[in-house]
Amino acid sequence: MVYTALAGELRSLVKGTVKTDEPMSKHTTWRIGGKADLFVDPGDKEDIRRVVEFVRTRDIPLTVIGNGSNLLVKDGGIRGVVLKVGRGLAEISVQGTTIKAGAGAMLPELAAAARRAGLGGFEFAAGIPGSLGGGIVMNAGAVNGCVANVLHSVEVINEHNRFVTLHNKELGFQYRTSNLQGKQVICVSALWQGYAKSKALIEQETRDYLLKRKAAQPQGYPNAGSVFKNPAGDYAGRLIEACGGKGLRVGDAQVSTKHANWILNLGRATARDVLTLIEKIKKMVQEAFGIELHLEVRVLGED
Ligand SMILES: Cc1cc2nc3c(=O)[nH]c(=O)nc-3n(C[C@H](O)[C@H](O)[C@H](O)COP(=O)(O)OP(=O)(O)OC[C@H]3O[C@@H](n4cnc5c(N)ncnc54)[C@H](O)[C@@H]3O)c2cc1C
Repeated sequence: MVYTALAGELRSLVKGTVKTDEPMSKHTTWRIGGKADLFVDPGDKEDIRRVVEFVRTRDIPLTVIGNGSNLLVKDGGIRGVVLKVGRGLAEISVQGTTIKAGAGAMLPELAAAARRAGLGGFEFAAGIPGSLGGGIVMNAGAVNGCVANVLHSVEVINEHNRFVTLHNKELGFQYRTSNLQGKQVICVSALWQGYAKSKALIEQETRDYLLKRKAAQPQGYPNAGSVFKNPAGDYAGRLIEACGGKGLRVGDAQVSTKHANWILNLGRATARDVLTLIEKIKKMVQEAFGIELHLEVRVLGED
């Protein structure tokens, strides 16, 4: 009831859409997650600023998501407002060797814009189903590159509700992480720096890379890509496979038989199923190798 009133107020403030009791399973690639009390899909960056001001003056919790491709949302859902930085902020423009793009654009769209313009450095982004905002926060990457290598700077709304620009060096990029993780800072747009490269070569390399990924990755069931970060000098998938984890199942959550670092939703998996499976895997790897696996996926919400 109280959320209906807040939703009404929010609708009068923003151009984008505002929903109540929105199932988060619609907004995660795992297709798992309880309901968000309030869900806002902003129309532009000014909408984001208004939402942030709205929640901060009322002490309402705020959760920011992108394409939900690295998220496990718990079954009890998310209290307060979920802000999805998506199609309202998806413009991409190229000038010389620089690309400016909204944080809601997708990584494969960035790769395609670079390819058309003959700019190298973005090939890795072609296969990662995340938004630029999520990609920056996670320092998304693959064997052939990562966000930290090509990001020049990012425009964010900071803790004081101001638009500020943070440069690459200020973001504390490391393997699959940045210092934006867990902060109340929202990425709205970014500048990317490429280098001149033959379009034909980029096309060829991208095609080869996407074919390799397709061959190595499980297909057909909702998932969130790699669940654990690779420990230094090793691969989480190799460790899980070596201790017999492939195919392990809790409810409808199953460790892929093709790639042991992926957990598939076979149909009706709950976040509880996935979390129980995660704990089992961690215990097996710890006991077999004395190595503690750390999650790459971000866990949000309540039980
Ligand atoms: C099939 C598949 C393959 C994948 N392959 C790869 C891969 O090769 N390499 C790789 O690195 N990852 C991979 N991933 C994981 C995922 O795509 C990346 O981590 C991606 O960068 C996440 O982006 P997202 O927009 O989905 O972010 P989300 O999952 O929505 O969010 C991730 C984190 O970023 C934060 N966030 C999102 N948007 C913003 C914003 N605008 N401002 C501030 N914070 C924000 C969220 O709060 C959360 O903490 C894969 C996932 C799948 C499903």
